[in-house]
Amino acid sequence: TYVVIDNCIACKYTDCVEVCPVDCFYEGENMLVIHPDECIDCGVCEPECPADAIRPDTEPDMDAWVSFNRKYSEMWPVI
Ligand code: SF4
Repeated sequence: TYVVIDNCIACKYTDCVEVCPVDCFYEGENMLVIHPDECIDCGVCEPECPADAIRPDTEPDMDAWVSFNRKYSEMWPVI
């Protein structure tokens, strides 16, 4: 899966959302998150992000970000 990290805070540029084929981005007040169970790992959103905030969970130390994205995608509305 891909997830959003804190580089997204206050950016909220939404080109990533436009390209996602499964609409798995959710929007909070300060940032977006990706639902890790809905993401199909296509990777098309990653190069669209100007803040380098979208990362694959295969990067080191991403477990906390995966949990964060799962938790908030279940609380926030889909964008
Ligand atoms: Fe959507 Fe693909 Fe990005 Fe996952 S990797 S959030 S499916 S665009």
